[in-house]
Amino acid sequence: MSSSSQSTRGILLMIVAPSGVGKTSLTRRLVADHSDLHLSISATTRQPRPGEHEGRDYHFVDRGMFDAMVEDDAFLEWAEVYGNRYGSPRTPIMEALERGESVLFDIDYQGAMTIHAKVPDDSVLVYILPPSLAEMSRRLHARSQDSEEVIAQRIARSKDEVSQWSKFDYVLLNEDFDQAYSDLAHIYHAERLRRSRNLWIAPFVDGLMAEDV
Ligand code: 5GP
Repeated sequence: MSSSSQSTRGILLMIVAPSGVGKTSLTRRLVADHSDLHLSISATTRQPRPGEHEGRDYHFVDRGMFDAMVEDDAFLEWAEVYGNRYGSPRTPIMEALERGESVLFDIDYQGAMTIHAKVPDDSVLVYILPPSLAEMSRRLHARSQDSEEVIAQRIARSKDEVSQWSKFDYVLLNEDFDQAYSDLAHIYHAERLRRSRNLWIAPFVDGLMAEDV
């Protein structure tokens, strides 16, 4: 019996990291390498950055549309981050879980904790640390997407978030991308193999026990 059949329960894998730690590259590669893992595309009221595409990076919506979705209970969670609203649409997440597949979330600390409180058994929390705040600041300046003020806000917020590291199941250091990616992929594989998620084991073992040898 294949353990990737519907008799395996999927997970909600939440990756949280300060901006500029390489989270997007890590999550994109993990999804590209695993056909049973889907990226949750959030809705946001913030403006697209250069190079971002509707439906691939975010669903870009206006505030009225976002608030209507909140009213309709269309989000598993939503939060306000740096003055913009971000939410994780509920339907694609539930559909993936029903198929026995998993969902990866590139969300902030509060969103991850909200989802974890709602589905504690099926969620896995990973935090990614920068090698240093100086390096993080250097990367934020290098990508030059944010003003000085927003960069300062992001760094201050990161300090608050990093102090919550002990609430996560796994904490990785992204000093070397390949190493961090390998660690993340191992976490995903091991979590998929957990006994409690593999509903095929009990009937399979019953079958073994019933063998007449
Ligand atoms: P950015 O504007 O840099 O894309 O994202 C800002 C922050 O919002 C990041 O920490 C990102 O992970 C977080 N974020 C993105 N989507 C969601 C979401 O659906 N819910 C929550 N709670 N945070 C999100």
